[in-house]
Amino acid sequence: MALAVTSSSSKAIFGSGFLLSSSSSEPKVSQIGSFRLLERPQMAPTIASKRRSSVKPVNAEPKRNDSLVPLAATVVAPEVEEKVEVEDFEQLAKDLEDASPLEIMDKALEKFGNDIAIAFSGAEDVALIEYAHLTGRPYRVFSLDTGRLNPETYHFFDTVEKHYGIHMEYMFPDSVEVQALVRSKGLFSFYEDGHQECCRVRKVRPLRRALKGLRAWITGQRKDQSPGTRSEIPVVQVDPVFEGLDGGTGSLVKWNPVANVQGGDIWNFLRAMNVPVNSLHSKGYISIGCEPCTRPVLPGQHEREGRWWWEDAKAKECGLHKGNIKQEDGKQLNGNGNGPAHSNGAPAVADIFNSQNLVTLTRTGIENLSRLDNRQEPWLVVLYAPWCQFCQAMEGSYIELADKLAGSGVKVGKFRADGEEKEYAKRELQLGSFPTILFYPKHSSKAIKYPSEKRDVDSFMAFVNALR
Ligand code: SF4
Repeated sequence: MALAVTSSSSKAIFGSGFLLSSSSSEPKVSQIGSFRLLERPQMAPTIASKRRSSVKPVNAEPKRNDSLVPLAATVVAPEVEEKVEVEDFEQLAKDLEDASPLEIMDKALEKFGNDIAIAFSGAEDVALIEYAHLTGRPYRVFSLDTGRLNPETYHFFDTVEKHYGIHMEYMFPDSVEVQALVRSKGLFSFYEDGHQECCRVRKVRPLRRALKGLRAWITGQRKDQSPGTRSEIPVVQVDPVFEGLDGGTGSLVKWNPVANVQGGDIWNFLRAMNVPVNSLHSKGYISIGCEPCTRPVLPGQHEREGRWWWEDAKAKECGLHKGNIKQEDGKQLNGNGNGPAHSNGAPAVADIFNSQNLVTLTRTGIENLSRLDNRQEPWLVVLYAPWCQFCQAMEGSYIELADKLAGSGVKVGKFRADGEEKEYAKRELQLGSFPTILFYPKHSSKAIKYPSEKRDVDSFMAFVNALR
């Protein structure tokens, strides 16, 4: 990723590791903030912040940063005074829960000055840059150039730089690591053995390097992007994963100014403010990542279905480990050689969705169900694989749903769609990834796919009640 420093306030600042540019040479006095974790036995969201009020030098000439060496090392700011303050980010998150993204952004930039940067992916998170611009404060932007982005994304980066008068600080993968990966496994190894290895080299490590030069970062995460995993995102938190400049757990703060904003409202904001957007959006892309690993999605599809869509075909990508499969001598091994096979050729793991109120459909059963124009009652059917962690995660709510619907006139079923059934399910049953949930209305042969990632009972009931 790259940090850009801008700005509407026409200030450029030197940073620890990133160079910010300015459209003006007007000097500005600002604070440099730093923080360290209180000495507690466990990571706590409370951070002791040692702030120094200082006169920050201004970058007189806009200049593109081409080095990760902290520039602060060469520019020493005179200390004026020193005080220690304690920052409780959990409390701050509560205080800011109802604040607008602009307010949150302003608070983040005010608190961390040159030690914070916006992580920009090249998608609708351009809204973060617009908010930062609107605060009138200097800000920095970084982006990860994996080397595999779409041409449209590179053009978009350029457009954004020109629109805001900033220079983004691009982070690149280590050339030796990329070379080793590509020479040993080829350019598209992720289609064969999953995206983790390539992402680790091209994304995660460069990100880690970028964050090591900061004390805080700003992301475009939203709660509505993935209700299963992001529903609890606070607007600010001590980063639970990455380390900042001071090193160690808790040395980095993560700001999520649009955590509470709906995707539709982000787009309304972008339109209202006439913000440039990536041209890939007009081609059906929602989520935008690397070119080989991102594809457009259709209306009603979740954006997640446009990323690494092939991976549900790999049991190991869905949490399958050898320890989950009991090898039984004399039984046929599945295609991966990982364990004994189910009769459909898939791994023989313990079945899930077992309930007296759930009907187990065979291939013939679901073929018949799919052919009928007039059913006695509507059906809800989950296409699943018992080894899939996402299927396992919704097992409780789906069984509860079946119990609730028992006797209501809506049948609830399951069809195991991995192994040999997978091609059929993809071709005939709209299977994209596991789990796929279909509603068969009473008077139509066409099944309706459940479009959401919300897999709680209430969401399922709302879906069923809207269609029954
Ligand atoms: Fe590699 Fe795809 Fe990950 Fe990009 S998204 S780093 S190309 S695996």
